[in-house]
Amino acid sequence: MVVFRSDPCGFFCILMTYGAVLYADYVVVRWIVFQIFPGSIWGSVHVVLFNTIIFLLFISHARAVFSDPGIVPLPKHRLNLAEDGLDENGGSIKPREDWTICTRCEMYRPPRAHHCRICKQCIRKMDHHCPWINNCVGEWNQKFFIQFLMYVGLLSVYAVCLVAYSWYAECKNCSKELMVRQSRILHSVLLVMESLLFGMFVIAIACDQFDAIFTDETLVEQVKNRNTQDSTHTKHSKPKIKLLAEVFGRTHPLLWLFPCSVHKSHLVHPIQDLHV
Ligand SMILES: [Zn+2]
Ligand SMILES: [Zn+2]
Repeated sequence: MVVFRSDPCGFFCILMTYGAVLYADYVVVRWIVFQIFPGSIWGSVHVVLFNTIIFLLFISHARAVFSDPGIVPLPKHRLNLAEDGLDENGGSIKPREDWTICTRCEMYRPPRAHHCRICKQCIRKMDHHCPWINNCVGEWNQKFFIQFLMYVGLLSVYAVCLVAYSWYAECKNCSKELMVRQSRILHSVLLVMESLLFGMFVIAIACDQFDAIFTDETLVEQVKNRNTQDSTHTKHSKPKIKLLAEVFGRTHPLLWLFPCSVHKSHLVHPIQDLHV
């Protein structure tokens, strides 16, 4: 299922992401590679490598943006909360013991599903709503979101290394024309600033994501448990590789680096059967 949220903030962030990545590509190709490695095989290697990372970045980003993050489908018949109250046993049959009620969607939802106010839906294992992908980060698209962060981080490091090398080499082959030299320096400085900004930003978010995976607690759950000081919340002692496989799929770990399909735990929504 393809989703796209009509959120102006998310739309702006997506455009900004595309603009920043394309600008980085322009600077690297036009002002670094063409200036420092003219006619060299190394120039072609860097262009191919840099654009391969961008290609993977765009694929993972698109999949994070347009994938269903794990929307809990609305039942045919909503719960009548006015009649049933919030008594979970009142009037309606609870599909399973660990299911909870969403008062906004007026339905039962599976454990670890949370309501997103921006998407206006309950999302399975919702982590947070991210404007950079204009979508929720949930059970079914977290893999693509983390890959997107990784590729942005990798691209930032690569760009900074190329600029550093260009300053070190200080271009035997570079044009000595003042205007060209000044433009190259200006674009290089802007690229370094952009790379540091986005690089540090994605590293911080990626650390949060891996922390959430290894503690088996989404960001939403961390906040809820902190607020309620829920001492009953039991930490899981699953092996880290198993926790990673739950997010990235039960495939070879090398495939976790690429934006291929993720294994979905397709659960039937029992509420639909109950009210037929
Ligand atoms: Zn809801
Ligand atoms: Zn959302």
